[in-house]
Amino acid sequence: MSRFLISTPCECQASLSATLDEHRHVTAGWATRSPRGRSAAGEADKELAPAHSINAHLDRFDVAWLCPYCGRNTLRTFDAGAMRRLPAASASPAAGLVPPGTTSSP
Ligand SMILES: [Zn+2]
Repeated sequence: MSRFLISTPCECQASLSATLDEHRHVTAGWATRSPRGRSAAGEADKELAPAHSINAHLDRFDVAWLCPYCGRNTLRTFDAGAMRRLPAASASPAAGLVPPGTTSSP
């Protein structure tokens, strides 16, 4: 099963991310932003961000997020050919399908 990771900055400086399945439907959406002030752990805030894809059957399709930090409804257009593909599983033998430098670090 192919999965894709997309992300885009929100107007409020948060980073909006989502994973898509092979039909380009959103399987998970979240937002992160750098912690302000506290640097101890260096851990970014992460909040659930409802997201859904629009016209997912098209090569150019839109994904809309509801940003949990600023409440905006953020719409971005993505090109299916430019999406980053996630490895199906960490132990997958299909590593050759993934271009170098795109290893995911969840
Ligand atoms: Zn925002």
